[in-house]
Amino acid sequence: MTTSPTLNFDTDWSYAPAPETAAVDIADHYGLFIDGHFVDAKSGATFDTINPATEKELATVAEAADADVDAAVNAARSAYEKTWSKLPAADRGKYLFRIARLLQERAREFAVIESMDGGKPIRESRDVDVPLAAAHFFYYAGWADKLGYAFPGKDTPRPLGVCGQVIPWNFPLLMAAWKLAPALACGNTVVLKPAETTPLTALKLAELIRDAELPAGVVNILPGAGATGSAIVNHPGVDKVAFTGSTAVGKAIARSLASTDKKFTLELGGKAANLVFADAAIDQAVEGIVNGIFFNQGHVCCAGSRLLVEESIHDELIAKLQDRMQTLIVGDPLDKNTDIGAINSKPQLEKIEHYLKLGSDEGAEKWQPDSSLPDQGYFCKPTLFLHCAQSSSVVRDEIFGPVLAVQTFRTFDEAMTKANNTPYGLSGGVWTDKGAKVFKATAKVRAGVVWANTFNKFDPSSPFGGYKESGVGREGGLHGLKEYCALN
Ligand code: NAP
Ligand code: MG
Repeated sequence: MTTSPTLNFDTDWSYAPAPETAAVDIADHYGLFIDGHFVDAKSGATFDTINPATEKELATVAEAADADVDAAVNAARSAYEKTWSKLPAADRGKYLFRIARLLQERAREFAVIESMDGGKPIRESRDVDVPLAAAHFFYYAGWADKLGYAFPGKDTPRPLGVCGQVIPWNFPLLMAAWKLAPALACGNTVVLKPAETTPLTALKLAELIRDAELPAGVVNILPGAGATGSAIVNHPGVDKVAFTGSTAVGKAIARSLASTDKKFTLELGGKAANLVFADAAIDQAVEGIVNGIFFNQGHVCCAGSRLLVEESIHDELIAKLQDRMQTLIVGDPLDKNTDIGAINSKPQLEKIEHYLKLGSDEGAEKWQPDSSLPDQGYFCKPTLFLHCAQSSSVVRDEIFGPVLAVQTFRTFDEAMTKANNTPYGLSGGVWTDKGAKVFKATAKVRAGVVWANTFNKFDPSSPFGGYKESGVGREGGLHGLKEYCALN
């Protein structure tokens, strides 16, 4: 008798757990990865990257400036013209599959370093960041030799050339994967800059790419500061810019690119509404609210940072949410029981603390659980602001921390008006028992992604991106592929 295989329809990307004994190897010093080699900056400049949970230095890192950007763009151009764009598409796919598999094999090492350099709980880097990064390489590897079928009615798309990519500190490895995988699958070459506080997993990825024997110059990784990012974006040899970061920097980049013919995509900030209707399953909604705002310390562009709850269930929901928040463990990112790790940097902690004071000063009621914080490192308690006015800064501004602003609504229309009363449009959440209400609300919330009865779910095949001041273009899925090729 044959038995049919059991299908697991839950998205579980952690299909290849690495052995727990894998060693974690962080060098004292990392160079720039240019043309297949690690080199020091031409100026000799370096900066330190620290562990935000201990405030201790992890490594010194070379800091790229204009001359290094020039060298990297030239290497990328040469690799584009001589090898990568000429390679049979199936071979490009093989290289991407190889990167994906190596990432799975070294998953534990990447997860530990991600948590050490950036502060996120190991449970998240182990179960979300690293496996999803590998999944992106697998997904786009599959498209590399099928581009002719990707966009029906069009010729096989052509690559754009050299891509300049700049990423933030909240998902350092995952953002690198989101950027590199589709660009490479289409036949482009890349110069990528990781964020200043979290360069290590991108540099480890450079080692892995070297080990995968990608032709030299196809991927160049240039750690550095904002000036390095600006030099990449504005280099005349760059054909396409992909930026993920704050709306302020994104606007400046859009202005500087306005007079060029470079293609660009911008993934910017957000202030998502998580809407809970009175008919929702309240216990599930509480879990979704917690995941929506406290995942990755709230350093998430699509975080559900505004809770909009139907007035009739406000008191019950908030009481349950407070009970749940009392159980959240804030502390050592490397402890697998930790729910909320370290805030990524001192300036980010100061920014969050500024908003904690401002929210109270402006009249919202601040609530935090009784838990204590570690003595050392940058930590912040999960925080609620209750009874918020629409004018409150904690409702309007992207705080990028574990801070949730709570408001109420009475009617469906009021909920939609409040949800959309923001310059951002990246994501949203709807909690209701009624399917019809899901469809009605998801159509009205003006955001690139709207989750129903769940939150912060990601998949390489689904597009991600914003409306309004949350950005231009999409990453992920076929939409993300389209941003890296020219179509006739
Ligand atoms: P950021 O200050 O805008 O920095 C993002 C990246 O740009 C960093 O690598 C940064 O380098 C670099 N940079 C700074 N100034 C630059 C300039 N003038 N030209 C070119 N590059 C420049 O943002 P962040 O504080 O790192 O990240 C948080 C923001 O990212 C939040 O607003 C969040 O919502 C957004 N985000 C959006 C998405 C999305 O998909 N929509 C995803 C994740 C994060 P340094 O690190 O050296 O400053
Ligand atoms: Mg760091």
